[in-house]
Amino acid sequence: MTLHGDYHTHTVYSHGSGSVEDNAAAAKNKGLYAVGISDHGFSHPFFGIKKDRLSALREDCSRAEEKTGVRVLMGIESNFIRKDGLCDLTDDLYDKFDIFLAGAHVFVGYRDFSSFWNVGVISPLAANFGGELSGSAKSFMTGVYLNAIRKQPIDVITHLNYRVFSDVKEVAHCCREYGTYVEINTKKSHMTDEEWKDVIDTGVNFVIGSDAHSPDRVADADPAYSLISRLGIPVERVHNVNRLPDFRFAAYKGVKL
Ligand SMILES: [Zn+2]
Ligand SMILES: [Zn+2]
Repeated sequence: MTLHGDYHTHTVYSHGSGSVEDNAAAAKNKGLYAVGISDHGFSHPFFGIKKDRLSALREDCSRAEEKTGVRVLMGIESNFIRKDGLCDLTDDLYDKFDIFLAGAHVFVGYRDFSSFWNVGVISPLAANFGGELSGSAKSFMTGVYLNAIRKQPIDVITHLNYRVFSDVKEVAHCCREYGTYVEINTKKSHMTDEEWKDVIDTGVNFVIGSDAHSPDRVADADPAYSLISRLGIPVERVHNVNRLPDFRFAAYKGVKL
C-alpha cells in the first residue's frame, strides 16, 4: 500500500507547529503526490483560522507547491455549528478552498443552544465518564451529521466518534449515498472494532488522514494499515492509497484537482 496523498494536516494557521512549506516538504520526503492543508474552521475560538488570512494561506500553498513539486491543496477542517448541520465553511467561501473536511469538535462557537448543550456539554461528559451517558446527545449528533452531509459537499468526515458520539452506521450510510469519505484518522483512536465493522458493512469509502500537527507526522499511515489488514477493509475502498480520491467538493464546484 502506498499513500498517495495526506489531506488532513495542520500548520501554524491553526495550532500546528510547521508552516505550509514544512508540511509540503515532509510530504515530498515521504513520496506523496499531494498534501492537504486543513486547519481548524473559523468558529474554533482558540485555533480557528482567521478569514483575513485566507489569501496568505493560498499564496503559501502555491509557493510550497512550486518549491516542492508536491500538489498542495488548500482545505479546512470545518466545524458543525448548528443543529441543521451548518458548517463554518459557508457557501460564500467555497471558491477559496480546494477540499472540505468536517469534524465534530467540542469547543466551538455554536449558533444554537441545543448544539452547545448536546455537543459542547453532554458529549464531553459522556466521553469522560463512561461512554454513552446520553442517548439524546448521540441522536442529536447523528442528526447534525446527516443534515450536514446532505446539504453541503463535504469531502471527508474526520475522526468519526472521537469524543462526540453518533450512530456511526447511519452516518456512514449517508456518507456512502452522498460520496463523502469516512476518515481513518491515525492520530486518534476514534472507533471500536465493532463500530468499524458496522461502518465497513455500509459499503462507504475511506481516506487515511494523519491529522499531523507537526511536519514529522505528515503521511503517518501505519496505524491505518494495521486497521485495514486487521479488519479486512478492501484496499480499493481506501481512496488515497495508490490513487487520487474522488473529491465531492471539487465535483460540486465543477473544478478538476
Ligand atoms: Zn479534528
Ligand atoms: Zn485535525
